[in-house]
Amino acid sequence: MSVSDHVDFNQFIEGVKKRNPGQLEFVQAVQEVAEDIFDYIQDKVEYHEYQILRRIAEPDRVVSFRVCWEDDNENIRVQRGWRVQNNNAIGPYKGGIRFHPSVTESVLKFLAFEQTFKNSLTGLPMGGGKGGSNFNPKGKTDHEVMRFCQSFMTELYRHVGADVDVPAGDIGVGAREIGYMFGQYKRITNQFTGVLTGKGLEYGGSLIRTEATGYGTVYFLQNMLERIGDSVDGKACIVSGSGNVAIYAAEKINQLGGKVLTLSDSGGFIHDPDGIDLEKLAWVKELKDVRRGRIEEYAKEFTGAMFHTGQRPWAVPCDLALPCATQNELNGDEARMLVKNGCSGVAEGANMPTDLEGVHVFKDAKIRFAPSKAANAGGVAISGLEMSQNSARVSWKEHELQDHLVEIMRGIHDRCVEFGGNLGDEHIDYVRGANIAGFVKVADAMLAYGVV
Ligand code: NDP
Repeated sequence: MSVSDHVDFNQFIEGVKKRNPGQLEFVQAVQEVAEDIFDYIQDKVEYHEYQILRRIAEPDRVVSFRVCWEDDNENIRVQRGWRVQNNNAIGPYKGGIRFHPSVTESVLKFLAFEQTFKNSLTGLPMGGGKGGSNFNPKGKTDHEVMRFCQSFMTELYRHVGADVDVPAGDIGVGAREIGYMFGQYKRITNQFTGVLTGKGLEYGGSLIRTEATGYGTVYFLQNMLERIGDSVDGKACIVSGSGNVAIYAAEKINQLGGKVLTLSDSGGFIHDPDGIDLEKLAWVKELKDVRRGRIEEYAKEFTGAMFHTGQRPWAVPCDLALPCATQNELNGDEARMLVKNGCSGVAEGANMPTDLEGVHVFKDAKIRFAPSKAANAGGVAISGLEMSQNSARVSWKEHELQDHLVEIMRGIHDRCVEFGGNLGDEHIDYVRGANIAGFVKVADAMLAYGVV
């Protein structure tokens, strides 16, 4: 087959839409990657001949199952659970579990697809997967969450394993949920293995896993700025979300001398012109992790801070923006507003928080834009190192892991520069760089296996 025989980009996307009806998030993620890959593989016949991109965009399998549990009032509740195993060409499937009412098969397929490229970018041997349920942990008691997690794992355990598929946390799944799921896996299988990451330190977890995604996102931002002789120091930053990723991104910005102006949740955002410093962040951590409260309480606690009900923070003028809440939380108009207000760098802590139009606005404006698959890979990288520690039955010291995280994020940055440069000026297209660098390793492994 010659290159000219191959389907063009539009035909490819039409095919993806046809095979995945109504799965808007999945199609969006594939389209964003395909825009760059089609260009890159134009003259690379083997990738076409072996239909590599088409095969990566078709999950190895999607497991869907019923999850029954009993609430505290003895009502029987029924939820839907999934595990999407997208691609294991370079290692066991790896990716988080999300518990949120917005979870659908499309959302998990997009996340598993993205995860495949992200995990490849880390340089560690991990394939891509993702799972979750439309269960809403908010407002549930610990016992209800425990019963749900146990029921979820009672089905999931057949599909995962330390060398098969290693889930972790994501939205709505933190240390508490991982503990309940690991306990149930151990009970059913009678095995103590590294089947989940993000575990408590007492039972095989890794130091700095909790901090790694947020810290890593800011390290990536710092790498982009250092390349042009700049830094986070003294910059006004807006952050969305107030969960795991947002809190540790805000912490690292503070440590590097930046000022965090905003945080948010699904109820709205808070704006603190004095800055959300480390002391205030400690209060937010307690609010979210212990009291499981809402971010609007911040404005009652700290004078000068305002809460904006039902709004997102992107109209607040800033130097740097870090969307760290969820997918499609920053659209084209909001991207234009950021650019107009002088924002010169964006690093995505959440997965695909900027919609396709927004991505194009940032690319056209040539601001420094770090896409999620590169910028938030620090979490899964430390998860990969948690797997290594579990296999070797050792625990590495904090400073060793911190060094690894810094080094891995620099490596990802440099690979993005390698594949995203050459535009004739100093500007780097980090989206293109991340897509191509992530693709090449997976694609070459798939070529080695032939048609499987
Ligand atoms: P958490 O559950 O800890 O926090 C999620 C935050 O986002 C909460 O503040 C939540 O607010 C907010 N949020 C969720 N859905 C919406 C929505 N529809 N609109 C507005 N705000 C919303 O999750 P994480 O911090 O772990 O994850 C955040 C993002 O980072 C996700 O995209 C996740 O996939 C990604 N990510 C996470 C990694 C990790 O290590 N945890 C690794 C790599 C990526 P509320 O409480 O009101 O719902």
